[in-house]
Amino acid sequence: MSPLKIEIPVTDDDRLELTPELLAELNEQNTALESATPSEIIRWGVERFGDRLTMATAFGPEGMVILYLLSAISRNTHVFNLDTGYQFPETLELRDEVARRYGLEVEMKRPELTVEEYEKLHDGPLYKTNPDQCCLDRKVKVLRSGIVGKHAWMTAIRRDQSPDRAAAPIVGWDKKFQLVKINPLANWTKNQVWKLITDQQIPYNPLHDQGFTSIGCWPCTRAVGLGEDDRAGRWSGTAKTECGLHSRED
Ligand code: SF4
Repeated sequence: MSPLKIEIPVTDDDRLELTPELLAELNEQNTALESATPSEIIRWGVERFGDRLTMATAFGPEGMVILYLLSAISRNTHVFNLDTGYQFPETLELRDEVARRYGLEVEMKRPELTVEEYEKLHDGPLYKTNPDQCCLDRKVKVLRSGIVGKHAWMTAIRRDQSPDRAAAPIVGWDKKFQLVKINPLANWTKNQVWKLITDQQIPYNPLHDQGFTSIGCWPCTRAVGLGEDDRAGRWSGTAKTECGLHSRED
């Protein structure tokens, strides 16, 4: 299945330029950090990019693990959530839990139009008729505004989550968004994530206990059955597998 191809105009004059030197540094660090722990990878990102580093989280189990680890390294790193207006209440409640437990304030980045305004503009919910456009408007464009002035973003993707994510580097250049992308959990397994959650009593979305393995917006997420792929509940019944934030070409 081909990944979503969405062209995002770059308007941030303060963006990082991909020079041959930077590319060589990223390649070198990617190799060096391949066997590093997630904490070591996060620490490298914090020290290398300082307040130019940001993190996007949807409060999934992997994101909660990174927030737990990040809080021991830096509580000043900018963290944001793409608040589409369609998230589950259980997801939104984790924001307060993260602030209370870890002292990390997660900024909620919202699209220009409320859900009501957006659905009125399109004569109904676009997630039913054109989910790619809905994700573009309510996630991808919002991410673009969230990374203005930033030189690196950290995500919680794992290689074994899907074929689209299988080639994700630890550190690489994000062509679509034009900044460095750091994936501290790229080579972790689902079992490692849940072991740390259990061992350290890291809070997680209670919907995971009801069969929701990957949680996005409520209209586009269902619980999965036995033997199904973890992401089978996302945009179920359609060919869509990603929202456009992460793709094979990153
Ligand atoms: S996941 Fe669904 S509701 Fe959320 S932005 Fe994408 S299409 Fe819209």
